[in-house]
Amino acid sequence: MKKKDSTDWRFSTRVIHKGSKKDPTTGATAIPIYQTASFEYEEIQTLSDVFHGRQFGYQYSRVTNPTITQFENRVTGLHQDARGSIGVSSGMAAITTALFALCGAGDELILAKSLFGGTYYLMKHVFENFGVKCHFVNTTDISAYEKKINKKTAAIFLETIGNPKLDVPNIQSITKLANTHNIPVVVDSTVTTPYLFQGKANGVSVLVYSATKYLSGSGTTVAGVITDTGHFDWRKSKSTRIQEAGKKFGEMAFLGRCQRQICSNTGCVLPPFNAFLTSLGFDTLPLRMNKHCENALKLATFFDQHPKVKEARYPGLKKHPDHSVASQQFDQKFGGIVTLRVENKEKAFNVIDKTKIARTLVNIGDTKTLVVHPQSTIYRDFSEEEAEEAGVFTDLIRVSVGLEDCQDLIEDFDQALK
Ligand code: PLP
Repeated sequence: MKKKDSTDWRFSTRVIHKGSKKDPTTGATAIPIYQTASFEYEEIQTLSDVFHGRQFGYQYSRVTNPTITQFENRVTGLHQDARGSIGVSSGMAAITTALFALCGAGDELILAKSLFGGTYYLMKHVFENFGVKCHFVNTTDISAYEKKINKKTAAIFLETIGNPKLDVPNIQSITKLANTHNIPVVVDSTVTTPYLFQGKANGVSVLVYSATKYLSGSGTTVAGVITDTGHFDWRKSKSTRIQEAGKKFGEMAFLGRCQRQICSNTGCVLPPFNAFLTSLGFDTLPLRMNKHCENALKLATFFDQHPKVKEARYPGLKKHPDHSVASQQFDQKFGGIVTLRVENKEKAFNVIDKTKIARTLVNIGDTKTLVVHPQSTIYRDFSEEEAEEAGVFTDLIRVSVGLEDCQDLIEDFDQALK
C-alpha cells in the first residue's frame, strides 16, 4: 500500500496528501459525504459500547460523523505535529467551544483589544454574562498581558493579525510568558492559516480558525475548526474540568472536552456537506495564500502612495509599526487584508460604491476582492472609544484582497478614489 502520511513532507505536499485517504469501500478520493443523522447497530450492546467509548464507532451526527472526521484529519495534517482537530459549525463556534472548554464562572480571560467584532460581542454578551471576567489589553504590549495575569486566569486569547486593526503581536513573547504561568494560549489564526503560521513552534496551545475564510477559500460555506497544537501538557492544566476530561480522554483531554462535552451538547456541529465543501479548499491553500499576500502588498503599496488616501495600513509595509515582528513570524508574508482611510465616512461610502470589481459584503478570504465599511456594519454597536481601540475609524475601508489580476484591482480602486 502506498504511504500516505509522512512527517517529512513539506507544507504543499502535506496539504494535499496528509489525512487524505481513499474510501476503503469504493476507492473514492474525495471525502465521502455521510449525510445521515444517526448510525445503526445490529445489537444494542454494541451501541452501548460505542457510547461508553469501549468500541470505536459513530452514534449520532450531532456528536460527530465520518465526513467530519476526515475533514478534521485533513486540518490536523496542515499542522506540524498537532494532536488533533475538531470541526464545528462556524469560526464563532470554534472560539466559543475552545473557551467554554477552558473557563467557567469566576475565571478570567485576557484578550486582545483589537479582536474581530464578533468575538468582542461574544465576550461582552455571553462570557461576561456567565461570570467570566474579560480583560482587554493592547495585543502588542507584553507587559499589559503580564499585569493582568493572576490565579484565576484561565486562558489568553489573541489574533495573529488583528482584524481590521492589522496589529501584530509578538506571539512567542506572549506564549513564553503564559507558559511560565501554565496558562494556555488560544490564537485565532483565521487570517494567517497554517500556511503562514504554525502554532506549536510558536508555543501556542490551541489554534482556532474561521474556515469560512481562507481555508475554504471560495466563500461558499460557514465553518470553523479548533486544533490542539500538541504544545500544552493538559495533565498540568489548572482547570479541574480539563483534569476530569483527562481521565477519560488521556492526552486528548482538551479536544475530548471540546467535542464530547461542549460541541455536542451546545449543538454547534459542522454539517457533513459543509465539511466536504470546506475541504475542497485545502489543496490550493498555499497557492491561494501566496497570491493573496502578493496582491495585498501591491495594493497596499499603491494605496500608500495615493494622494486621496490619508493612511494605508498593511503589516507588509515597512512603515507599519509591527512590520519586523510580522516579517519574522509569518516568514515574509503578511496576509490578504489591507485597510485605508479616506478622511470621512461619506468619502468611504463613495469609494466603496464606486468600485466595480470589489464586492461590498462582510466576509474575508474569498477568491474575490471584498470591501466593507467596518464601522457601520460589524462594529455598529461599538462605542467610539471601543471602536478606536479596535482600529475602527469612521473613514476606514477594509479590503480583503482577492486573486484577481492586481493591475485590474489597482485601476478599479484608482477610479473609485478619484
Ligand atoms: N475570527 C476572525 C478573525 C474573523 O474574521 C471571523 C469572521 O469574520 C470569525 C472569527 C468568525 O468566523 P465565522 O463567521 O465563520 O463564524
